[in-house]
Amino acid sequence: MAALIRLSSRPSALSAAASRVAARCFASASASQATPTSSSAPLFAFSASSGSAGRKDAEHRNVQWVFLGCPGVGKGTYASRLSVLLGVPHIATGDLVREELSSSGPLSLQLKEIVNQGKLVSDEIIISLLSKRLEAGEAKGESGFILDGFPRTTKQAEILEGVMDIDLVVNLKLREDVLLEKCLGRRICSQCGKNFNVASINVKGENGKPGISMDPLPPPPHCMTKLITRADDTEEVVKERLRIYYEKSQPVEDFYRRQGKLLEFDLPGGIPESWPKLLEALNLDDYEEKQSATACLVCWEYSAKGVGDIAAGRVGWP
Ligand code: ADP
Repeated sequence: MAALIRLSSRPSALSAAASRVAARCFASASASQATPTSSSAPLFAFSASSGSAGRKDAEHRNVQWVFLGCPGVGKGTYASRLSVLLGVPHIATGDLVREELSSSGPLSLQLKEIVNQGKLVSDEIIISLLSKRLEAGEAKGESGFILDGFPRTTKQAEILEGVMDIDLVVNLKLREDVLLEKCLGRRICSQCGKNFNVASINVKGENGKPGISMDPLPPPPHCMTKLITRADDTEEVVKERLRIYYEKSQPVEDFYRRQGKLLEFDLPGGIPESWPKLLEALNLDDYEEKQSATACLVCWEYSAKGVGDIAAGRVGWP
């Protein structure tokens, strides 16, 4: 879907920071409709030695967002939906790893062992995979991205910081018992690669935490016979992935929190409850979904409330 982003209003009270984001989204819309022109520098030469070669003026590129969150929280689901709305690629390092795994490349065996134990792939390997993906995208005229599953260590965050400006980091959160159920219920279509879920989650509220319900996400009939379970979605491996997340990836949340870029988002339920609330938190509006119309219009509206939220620090724009 080619997203058309419209600046619906620009209240005079709009903060300079919010204006910049709005302008960036406007650039995103124009870019998504324009034919890519021959690109300038190799923007995503993505190594520690590349210095600031990957930086592009925020006014002349699409959004550069990161999705953080524990295994199974739904990073892929929401990042891919947003990527369609904003007309930017959704780049999941877990997908890059799985692509490499399924190839007969030299890394394949080594990666299989690491991933199936729930461990993290080395920073060097992951950065090399991501760098290749970004460079291939750049060659195709892609601009901007939503990263999912990267950075996952402070070192990765520092390397990214050295070459790119990240505008916003969305930190998705869910109770740990729900995360486990979601991972165990996850199924993937071996043909189209889409994710589904057989778990029917209904957890009562306790100790001041709200209860949560999520309906299963069933596959369409043509995927039904092709469903597979990820080898790392067993109870033992999910628990290890969660342990590693708390140890290695939670410091990444602090890294971005200190920079005022972290938007914390507690998922209130499944997609029907969470998607509209996430859009609201991001001051985005999905007109297509609301109207079920053929028109493809995404409107980034800066209501007085939205600007207030930003000012109140609920979301920290750069
Ligand atoms: P999860 O459901 O745990 O978020 P992903 O699909 O993002 O899973 O990643 C699958 C596996 O790929 C991880 O467990 C890890 O082994 C590897 N991986 C993905 N991204 C990274 C990263 N940024 N750094 C190191 N390893 C990674």
